[in-house]
Amino acid sequence: MPAPRAEVTAHVALGANLGDAREALREAIAALEATPGVRVRLVSSLYRTAPVDSSGPDYLNAVAEVATTLTAPALLDALLAIEQAAGRERPYRNAPRTLDLDLLLYGEARIDSPRLTVPHPRMGERAFVLVPLAEIAPPLVSPEALRAVAGQRIEKRD
Ligand code: ADP
Ligand code: MG
Repeated sequence: MPAPRAEVTAHVALGANLGDAREALREAIAALEATPGVRVRLVSSLYRTAPVDSSGPDYLNAVAEVATTLTAPALLDALLAIEQAAGRERPYRNAPRTLDLDLLLYGEARIDSPRLTVPHPRMGERAFVLVPLAEIAPPLVSPEALRAVAGQRIEKRD
């Protein structure tokens, strides 16, 4: 019998800003939970944030901690499949709902391939990533990192 693959702790950022963003995030968490080889351990509160690199409506953001037996590229494939499924979900609506799922951290791995960079290269600039990540995994976010994004508007939701 082959030894089971060890689980790795990974952190995933979730964001949505079109349509029912809260529902999109809820469905994304359910889809993560339904992914073979992925167990959702923790989900942060939802945060309402101003768009950072774009205009448009405010975002809802959250961060999830998962335990996974998937490799990092396989986990990325699962995240991209969940994004695509969310985009196809309600074809009768005028505007597609956006759902962004980013792989922030995969254990202590450092990955720099054409399609995957881990740790996520822009996470240190983004309050909407660092604040929810600090909520569920305080040792992973330094006070200095939080101070560096303290000027960005972010508001905890229920
Ligand atoms: P954003 O950088 O704003 O999240 P996109 O979601 O459009 O932009 O980027 C998606 C692409 O980024 C994916 O096709 C994927 O190959 C690449 N990518 C590289 N590193 C990562 C990562 N750590 N998490 C998610 N996507 C990544
Ligand atoms: Mg993305």
